[in-house]
Amino acid sequence: MEAAGSHSYTRQHSREAKTMQPVDLLRELSDAFGVAGFEDEVRDLIKERVAPFVDDVVVDALGNVIAVRKGKDERVLMLDAHMDEVGFIVKWVDDKGYVRFAPLGGWDERIIGGHRVVLRTRQGAKRLGVIGSAPPHILSADERSKPIPMDKMFIDVGATSRQEASALGVEIGDPMTIHYPFAEIADGYVTGKALDDRAGCATLIEAARRLADVKLPMTTAFSFVFGEELGLRGATTASFHIDPVLALAVEGTIGADMPGIAEESQPTRLGRGPAVSVADRSIVVSPKVVRAIEALADKHKIPYQYKLPTYGSTDAGAIHLSRGGVLVGIVSVPCRFIHSPVSTLRVADFENTIRLVTEFTRTAPNGLL
Ligand SMILES: [Zn+2]
Repeated sequence: MEAAGSHSYTRQHSREAKTMQPVDLLRELSDAFGVAGFEDEVRDLIKERVAPFVDDVVVDALGNVIAVRKGKDERVLMLDAHMDEVGFIVKWVDDKGYVRFAPLGGWDERIIGGHRVVLRTRQGAKRLGVIGSAPPHILSADERSKPIPMDKMFIDVGATSRQEASALGVEIGDPMTIHYPFAEIADGYVTGKALDDRAGCATLIEAARRLADVKLPMTTAFSFVFGEELGLRGATTASFHIDPVLALAVEGTIGADMPGIAEESQPTRLGRGPAVSVADRSIVVSPKVVRAIEALADKHKIPYQYKLPTYGSTDAGAIHLSRGGVLVGIVSVPCRFIHSPVSTLRVADFENTIRLVTEFTRTAPNGLL
């Protein structure tokens, strides 16, 4: 696969990448900076981690990472995960040095106030700031009872003027994210800032590692795309470039088994295995693809659940409409609290998603073509 201005990597076996545990890989990926449209840091990490297990890695003009393993069949299976995470962008610095900001991706803006952000400057330095708003003590009862809209919030970066902010490297257009370092909350239960969709990225890299010495039936493109959170942008161009006949999108999706939510309104539940999508707002998954995934999970005794229709959109929405149409399935790692400052997942769900994606790739096209 060729792309203008791409960087090509030869197959090189790095001992570190070969022995890394999936959770350590997830930690590294979750902690990497990769706000939608500003994925450079996570992109470099993914290239390095996947390169030892594929024949070729290219980065296309818009920044998608496409890592290809040649198979017996030249027709291509595309495995998709998105690199980007939700974040913010500096839209204004006022003359007192306060930063105003806009979202990059869908945030729950009721719960972002009071968190610390990491801002990346044009020089690549990371700076800290705090998302603030007027203190409750000076608000009226009426003001206190309402959520504060994002355009009334500001970020305090420690500057007292626009010039001071500029001296710190803070300029219009700089990306920011709320950064909670990856951590284990309890045995087999972890938290991090960007599990949506670094859990998918880690799944693809780990599947590539497990299949490194297996002759694959189909040529397989491990595709790590930019800008999903801005509207499935990277998957749109990557699927055109790759031209797959079959695809699987791997996501970190909405876990909602929590107090106050009825079971029928929980898109997925943690601890019940990978979530198989039947339909979301961007696609109705072909029933034969759903049946093939179910059969594979049953055969390998991998627990799975359905992601209830029709919550959220996924890269599958863009991929299935590429060119003349592509058969696409979706499997997801259930994550609680996505699109908030921090999210969580069960390691067992993550591990079982890796197993399912690995088996899907090992046995593609699974009777589907
Ligand atoms: Zn996602």
